[in-house]
Amino acid sequence: MTIAVNLQTVRQRIEQACAAADRLPTTVHLLAVSKTFPAEAVAQAAAMGQRDFGENYIQEGVDKIAALAHLGLTWHCIGPLQSNKTRLVAEHFDWVHSVDRLKIAQRLSEQRPSTLAPLNVCIQVNIDASPSKAGFAPQEALAMAHAVALMPGLRLRGIMTIPEPTHEPAETLAVHQRTKALFDHLRANGLALDTLSMGMSADLEAAVQAGSTMVRVGSAIFGGRTTPPLTR
Ligand SMILES: *Cc1c(COP(=O)(O)O)cnc(C)c1O
Repeated sequence: MTIAVNLQTVRQRIEQACAAADRLPTTVHLLAVSKTFPAEAVAQAAAMGQRDFGENYIQEGVDKIAALAHLGLTWHCIGPLQSNKTRLVAEHFDWVHSVDRLKIAQRLSEQRPSTLAPLNVCIQVNIDASPSKAGFAPQEALAMAHAVALMPGLRLRGIMTIPEPTHEPAETLAVHQRTKALFDHLRANGLALDTLSMGMSADLEAAVQAGSTMVRVGSAIFGGRTTPPLTR
């Protein structure tokens, strides 16, 4: 019940942010981040028409994917990815937002089963050079994107960022606008990208204003987490 109400509220926030930015609401996709919440919570959101779900912890995600296979949902890996986990991800997930090393991309491409469509990927960009966050420096992103675009097991969709939280709305917006500018720069350089994965529960309005095409929303839908978010 709470999840249904929260989901409605988040959809309204996205619609209002789109209206304020003069964007069509269909241009912003909602990724429901279900990390630490049980398959039952995912099923409740799915009953409300939510199709895309994000997971940070690989084994937890794989377990939910198996438990809910009958629902035909789309699963996104958004957490830090170690080499020894790439096979599980390549075999079970539909998307990876957190590609932060060339080696990880190569392994995902090689390990993607040929019976499945190429794995959709976003390159993670450390837009504010935060020492605590993974991702490529903005000036590395173009070369990395060109390399990933050539990998047969992958389909490069865009870039993802997790900026440091700020309490200054103008600063939050400015950081998101820098990411949008980088996204446009990559597209101007011949990369067919359609996904700017940016914005979470606290800053989705600013992200939509700046041009996000996919917001990743956890706590505003599922409630507070007792386990600390592992976002690096
Ligand atoms: C946990 C997480 C989110 C969702 O964060 P909320 O603040 O709960 O909306 C989004 N993106 C990533 C990468 C995360 O780890």
